[in-house]
Parts: sequence; C-alpha cells; structure tokens
Amino acid sequence: QLNAEIVAVGTELLLGQIANTNAQWISQQLALYGVNVLFHSVVGDNLTRVHAEFEHAAKRSDIVIVTGGLGPTDDDLTREAYQLLSGTPIIEHKPSMDKISSYFDRQNGTMTPNNKKQARVFEGATILENKVGMAPGMIITKNNTIWIFLPGVPKEMKQLFSDGVLPYIKNKTQDTTTIESTMLRFIGIGESQLEHEIKDIIAAQSNPTIAPLAQTEGVAIRLTAKAETMKQAKQLIADTQIKIEDKAGAYLYGIDDETIEQKVFQLLLEQRKTVAAAESLTGGLFTDRLIGVEGASAICPGGIVCYDTKVKEDLLHVPSHITRDIGVISAECAESLALNVRSVLGSSLGISFTGVAGPDKVEGYSVGTVYIGIVDGKGTKRIKKFIFNGDRQTIRKKAVWKGYQLLFN
Ligand code: ATP
Ligand code: MG
Repeated sequence: QLNAEIVAVGTELLLGQIANTNAQWISQQLALYGVNVLFHSVVGDNLTRVHAEFEHAAKRSDIVIVTGGLGPTDDDLTREAYQLLSGTPIIEHKPSMDKISSYFDRQNGTMTPNNKKQARVFEGATILENKVGMAPGMIITKNNTIWIFLPGVPKEMKQLFSDGVLPYIKNKTQDTTTIESTMLRFIGIGESQLEHEIKDIIAAQSNPTIAPLAQTEGVAIRLTAKAETMKQAKQLIADTQIKIEDKAGAYLYGIDDETIEQKVFQLLLEQRKTVAAAESLTGGLFTDRLIGVEGASAICPGGIVCYDTKVKEDLLHVPSHITRDIGVISAECAESLALNVRSVLGSSLGISFTGVAGPDKVEGYSVGTVYIGIVDGKGTKRIKKFIFNGDRQTIRKKAVWKGYQLLFN
C-alpha cells in the first residue's frame, strides 16, 4: 500500500484567509484508490520553509502531492524549493509557453518575465495539461518518492488531478477491489450552482465520491465508486446518479462521452423535428457538429454559412433596411436569418448566429457580442443576446455551445 501526504503551499492558508479545501478534496479521491493519506501540511510562501517541508515529506512518503505556488508571482516558490531539494534542472515547456504567449497576444497585453515562469517545468517530469488555466501539473519520481505538483486554484487542481493524476495512481496501486467511474455532463448551469444544488448529497456520502469539475464546455460531475465487484460499484453509482438527477436532472445532457449534439439529435428525433442553421460568425461550426452525429440526415437538411452581408441579403433575404439601417449584429437580423434559413431549407426549426468574433469591433459592437435566434413554424421565436469572453475561436465555440443549450432547454 502506498502512503501519501499533501503539502499545501500558500501564506493565505496560514493566515486563515482560505481553508485548505484542496487537501480535503484530494484525500477523498485518494481514499477510494486505496492510497493512505498520512499527513496534511500547510506552509507559507517562504523558500526555506517550503524546502524544509519537502525534505521532511521525502523521508516519510511514497507520494507527495504539492498544491500551490506554481503561479507567476515572486512569492510562488514551489519550483525553486523542489529544485533545492533535488537538484533537478528547470526547463521551459514549449506547449505551455505557446499557450501563455498566445493568451497575452489575444488580450493585447504585454507578457512580463513573470508570466513565463508558469511554463517552467522540471526536466524529466511527466507534464499534465492544464485545461482551465496556465501552469501545467507535473509528476516526477526522485529516490522512490513520487512528487506531484499541481496549481493551487481549486478548479485547475481538480481538472489536473482527475485527468492526469488519478489514471497515474490507478496504475501504481495494485488494489484488487474494483473502481468504477462515471461522468455526468451538464449544460446551462455553473459549477458553483451545481455544487450548491447537490451539496446535501455530497455531504451525506463518501462512496461513490462526487466531484464537480469545470470542463472546457459545461460542467461535469465524476462519480467514483469502490466495491468488491464491478456490479456493486455500478449499483452504488446508479443510486447516487438518481439522487443527483432528482436535483439537477434538467441540466443533465450526457453520460461519459455523450455530447450535446448527440443529445439534441435525440431530442429532435423524438419530436420529429428538423433544424437548419444560418451561421455568420460560427461559419458552419454548429452544423458541423450536428452532422458529425450518425444519422443526422433525419434531423438536419443542411445549413447556410452567411458570413458576408451580401450572402445574408441574397441567399437569406435579410431585408436591406435591417442590414443597412439596423445592422447585421442585431436581434432583427438574427430573427430574419432564422426565419429565412428555415423557409429556404424547409426545416421545422431555424437557428441563426450573428455577432462579433473579433479581434476588431464591428458596427460599434464590442468583441464577443452575439445574437442567437431560434424560430419554429408556429410563430414562436427566441432571440437572445450574449456577450462572450475570449479570443476569436473561443467566442465562436461558445456561441455554438450556447446554440445547443438553447435547443436543449
Ligand atoms: P496558478 O499556477 O494557477 O497561478 P498557484 O499554483 O500559484 O496557481 P496559488 O497562487 O498558491 O496557486 O493559489 C491560487 C489561489 O488558489 C489562491 O488565491 C486560493 O484562492 C486558491 N488556493 C490555493 N491553495 C489552496 C488550497 N490548498 N485550498 C483551497 N484553495 C486554494
Ligand atoms: Mg500563491
């Protein structure tokens, strides 16, 4: 059996400004995998003391999990402390560096040498991709101790732990009990609201563990159960899933690898409806995802990419008083596009996307302004305005995601 300890780095923890929820969460996860957690420690942002704590940990634990202190500022000293302990060279991780510089390019900000720090990793370490923030996680073995370094921000820590650390640990432990894991995927609800909705369920049980996780799109809950047999583990998960669905079922769109477009496909099929999209800023992304679903021809006759105003006017008959006087970034234009793509392509629903993906403003509208319209044949219409953050591709993807959300509920 493996013995682990968790070292949380950060003066704010010592001052009592925040609670060490990272250690609490990680311990719950490790328990299921048969890893004993024998110590939790908290140390401030001080090189000598972090180093002393690491020395201590190296002597007594098989696995040391460190959270925090990987950020850009001078008080983030985790790397330096481990280097002091191990002599491991620190090198630049190219993919992380590219990600950080493109982030600054997009924000038109200048990258200071500080920011580059987050792309620095230990030579020979396994690098874990951070999908919600900048600093990658790292796993490195030294004198039979496995060191795992994770950012302090809970959202980032959880994503890295789930996607990178758990599979690694699962591999290391030779536990004979069965572990089963299921992802429940949600749309239209934030991570904290979801956590709030199910807080009683989380508080009341430990098997399966219930871990809300931020995702690139939407949020997920990972249920992990441990039992003697696979069947028992699956049953534990199913029982908890029912309780969660009872509270948040309206937002649940998929299990494990199911996608939102698959869900929308099913819904349309059941309702015997078809949908066609008029896509300006999304340039076909919405339709592309839908047609990626096997059997999509039953629910989607096609779509029209109407990027240029002339295409909106000529192919989709948006009246010139809208394109010229009101503007193409407008509720009126979104409505006209949705109505006309529906009639041109003969679908039961029409959906439209028009907005500013950036990097520059259009018609005085700031980057990220997007209108999405949905109409049916009975005169029902929903035209919504959104302001999305991010770079051009992110805004386009967020618009598509929102379009699916609107069709889902
Ligand atoms: P990043 O590399 O993503 O910038 P970091 O590794 O530098 O993060 P810190 O700067 O130490 O992490 O912490 C970032 C924030 O994460 C803190 O302000 C705090 O709110 C939260 N945090 C850090 N440690 C913990 C912890 N142990 N438990 C809960 N929250 C924490
Ligand atoms: Mg810090």
